[in-house]
Amino acid sequence: MMLEKRVAVVTGASRGIGSAIALGMAQQGADIAVLYSGCAESAEKVCARARETGVRAFSYKCNVADYMMTESTVMRIHNDFGKIDILVNNAGITRDSLVMQMTESDFDEVISVNLKGAFNMIKHTARQFAKQKSGRIINISSVSGMMGNSGQANYSASKAGLIGLTKTVAKEYASRGITCNAIAPGFIATSMTESMPEEARTAAVSLIPQKRMGKPEDIAALAVFLASEQAGYITGEVIKVDGGLYI
Ligand code: NDP
Repeated sequence: MMLEKRVAVVTGASRGIGSAIALGMAQQGADIAVLYSGCAESAEKVCARARETGVRAFSYKCNVADYMMTESTVMRIHNDFGKIDILVNNAGITRDSLVMQMTESDFDEVISVNLKGAFNMIKHTARQFAKQKSGRIINISSVSGMMGNSGQANYSASKAGLIGLTKTVAKEYASRGITCNAIAPGFIATSMTESMPEEARTAAVSLIPQKRMGKPEDIAALAVFLASEQAGYITGEVIKVDGGLYI
């Protein structure tokens, strides 16, 4: 097993890509902290499925945009599990509209969750990673952050920001045995993309050379690898998982 005796914290793990990452890591032997913002029941279900693999799993309500809450949650996780080895910043939201219609709060909210949320979590875990001279940080960005996307100025800016954050954290912490990488998914079938209008979804799929949306497990497979010992010499990378959407 690739992640035996590791402890992984996954934000936004109550559904979609986050839950697939949490379960993928549990299947490789990692204990899991499942962070969620709203749905305790879904988070508990993910924990129950993780426990079936024989690992420990607990859920924590944590709005990643709230600096103090991320600090206290990281402390609780550390107390419950004794350590943290892997941080996956997956929590994310969309508030799509053209810039002309986008409100200030649409912009601020998306940046606060998607970008500042990752900073908050890194801030509180990296100190301990540095002390233990090891750690894996994986940020879930998006191809929207690399190519831009009409209707997603806030989201694309947050995901591009995550790439800058990833590269900087990789440089600052490389000498302390910590790696930091980003995964940039294309269109993945989750509740986030289900909320798109049918025509927009069909148009999006037609642009993908593989002519299909990805599965959350496609992202989880890479996250598991990046968290493993074998990926120790990979840092500051942004890896697309998009069926060829952005070549
Ligand atoms: P979902 O909408 O299915 O799930 C989002 C998750 O984020 C939920 O677990 C939700 O928790 C959590 N969340 C939302 N707001 C907060 C917050 N303030 N604090 C903590 N957790 C929060 O999204 P996906 O699984 O599709 O996306 C996961 C990540 O992948 C996101 O960062 C997204 O931007 C990125 N991505 C997704 C793509 C796609 O096509 N689906 C493409 C590219 C990137 P709760 O349910 O408890 O509210």
